[in-house]
Amino acid sequence: MDAKELTKTLIAYNTVSPLSNVEVMDFLTEILEAADCEVERVEYKDPAGVLKVNLIGRKGPVNGERGLALLGHIDTVPAIGWSMDPFEARVADGKMYGRGSCDMKGSVACMIEVASRYAGSKLGAPLYVVITADEEVGYFGATAVAEKSEMFKKHGFPQYGVVGEPTELHAVYAHKGAVRFTVTAHGRAAHSSTGEGDNANLKLIPFLAEMRDIYHELTNDTRYFNDEFTPPFTDWNITISDGECAANITSPLSVCSINYRPMPGDDSQVWIDRARESAEKHGLIFDLYINAPPVRTPPDAEIIEAALEITGADAPKTVAYSTDAAVFAQHMETVIIGPGSILQAHTVDEWMALDQFPQAVSIFSQFVDRFCVA
Ligand SMILES: [Zn+2]
Repeated sequence: MDAKELTKTLIAYNTVSPLSNVEVMDFLTEILEAADCEVERVEYKDPAGVLKVNLIGRKGPVNGERGLALLGHIDTVPAIGWSMDPFEARVADGKMYGRGSCDMKGSVACMIEVASRYAGSKLGAPLYVVITADEEVGYFGATAVAEKSEMFKKHGFPQYGVVGEPTELHAVYAHKGAVRFTVTAHGRAAHSSTGEGDNANLKLIPFLAEMRDIYHELTNDTRYFNDEFTPPFTDWNITISDGECAANITSPLSVCSINYRPMPGDDSQVWIDRARESAEKHGLIFDLYINAPPVRTPPDAEIIEAALEITGADAPKTVAYSTDAAVFAQHMETVIIGPGSILQAHTVDEWMALDQFPQAVSIFSQFVDRFCVA
């Protein structure tokens, strides 16, 4: 099993989040079985009704006290405006280009290569490879795995988890959460000259003013700051859309979306409730669709100290983005560490440096040696 070759094959499957991932997961089921893993498929319907599959591969004893999960996602963000085919891997200048090369099919391939190298009979604790759907759009796959996996119900979760998101193989102990909601105003379209319309944008304005107040509080009041992070405050990012309504039509629909990244120790419910109450007061429809908590594994936890020893780094880091660890860290002691740079994730012409592949395989293997090998 060669991680680089496997990554090329995985890139060729278009697994942009909203699409069905059944085909790639059928392929990966065979790959995990060929690597001598027992495989569980955890299926669910996403919010649009599309069937999604998550995979759990396991080897080693089922009753191990400790155990380790290598955790990755197979979905990607869309690929628009590329200078090459995003679904055909291209190797040049020490880089592998392709959608998902960095975030995070390359990392998933390294995990599978690592799992393939260990005989189950040599393991003293279980080794899991978990591959999820819908990480990029709300951690729905990770949530389904945590709630529905028969394997984890029966044997319990492993004690330790490695979420292999792109950190350039630096150990990350904490990240911000992810909260996303929309607030919708309905109006009535008419030619604006007639006076017959009902402008949805006007209805949104008093709500927007109150959201601006929250934005100023969260980004200026140092009581809400957390110096473990850069920046030390959350975003309370406000976007608005009326579907590019023409200037001479009264807008029939206006939607405000807000992205909020709670930090460890924040009382996120206070801000969510304030936004909900403001929306209701102004007759608007509030819809919370992502509410993932922040992650913070204590820097002196065993998994973090192991990561530092393995990588030779002095101190673990924090990052401002969120990952499936928002779900998995509730069940396992979790570190976020993986190949590739977040600077290349989600970009046009995304790539991963080729030297990250052997380094990731080596680092993931050392976690397995430490937590699974008898
Ligand atoms: Zn990712």
